[in-house]
Amino acid sequence: MKVLVVGGAGYIGSHCVRQLRDAGHNPVVLDNLVFGHRQAVASDIPFYDFDLGDYDRVAQILKHEKIEIVMHFAAFAYVGESVTDPRKYYKNNLVATLRLLEAMLDNGVKKFVFSSTCATYGEPDTLPMLESLPQAPINPYGQTKLDVENCLKAFSQAYGLSFAAFRYFNAAGAAQDGSIGEDHNPETHLIPLVFDAATGRRENIKIFGTDYSTPDGTCLRDYVHVDDLSRAHIAVFDKLKQPSLGLFYNLGTGRPYSVREIINAVQEVTGLNVPFVEVDRRAGDPPALFADSTKAQKELGWQIQYTNIQSIIASAWKWHKSNPNGFSDS
Ligand code: UDP
Repeated sequence: MKVLVVGGAGYIGSHCVRQLRDAGHNPVVLDNLVFGHRQAVASDIPFYDFDLGDYDRVAQILKHEKIEIVMHFAAFAYVGESVTDPRKYYKNNLVATLRLLEAMLDNGVKKFVFSSTCATYGEPDTLPMLESLPQAPINPYGQTKLDVENCLKAFSQAYGLSFAAFRYFNAAGAAQDGSIGEDHNPETHLIPLVFDAATGRRENIKIFGTDYSTPDGTCLRDYVHVDDLSRAHIAVFDKLKQPSLGLFYNLGTGRPYSVREIINAVQEVTGLNVPFVEVDRRAGDPPALFADSTKAQKELGWQIQYTNIQSIIASAWKWHKSNPNGFSDS
């Protein structure tokens, strides 16, 4: 398949581009490099550096590259910022996505894979989380993702679009060979920050909240390897051959880990001590989020290869140890 990967220079997108190529597909990358890294994509993969909301230029690539399917990873994803600057989130995550979809439909491209999030569920009443749970996001980031999901449903019925929306839990880990990995600026994610505390690049890791109703008082999350996430995106291609299909899948391992367990696992994998301090809860953090991904496993044959947190952290560590400053080291 000729696949346009929007946001293909970002964390999850760049891992997916690798896997597309390994699986014999032909990825083409569109990334405005606001958060993406040019070095994360092999130099012989066609690369376009402009905004996904640029209807004319997107339409031109779709035609020129004879794109058959579009994968869309490009989004702003800082929950806190989405509360203080929602305009930015609606503009990029919703409005620009609509323009991308318009360019697709106007050019007869009707297969779409969308990066959604477990943040569309808000604070779940039941765990593990099934796709059928009510969706009630508690911040504009989650809301913009849900808005796109709803728009896709309507477009699918009205215009024959076939799509899969993957609701990610906590993406983690890095390519097995350590050549690409996570590099956010600013970094807010737990595992890379714990590495920085372990190596002394930061004084300590702050544990946000120790009074949650969880076994050790800290939040539970479902960390899923970025290569496992990517595999699901490719496994859905066959299904998308059917027109007007709308698919929703949770992607997580189903095994939650607490913040303290993550710190301990990093100590175990790296052999380094992790200094930590306990601080107040971070606003908007639900106590526990973990997936029931049976649907993806049954319908897509999705098999999780990184089943334990040590293997996920070991892959992330391989990247982080050699590239403490991320892609600016390469
Ligand atoms: N967390 C923490 N200290 C940090 C960063 C994160 O205690 O410096 C906690 C956070 O409260 C959450 C978990 O680690 O419970 C995962 O947070 P992250 O930001 O990595 O992902 P999120 O679940 O917010 O998408």
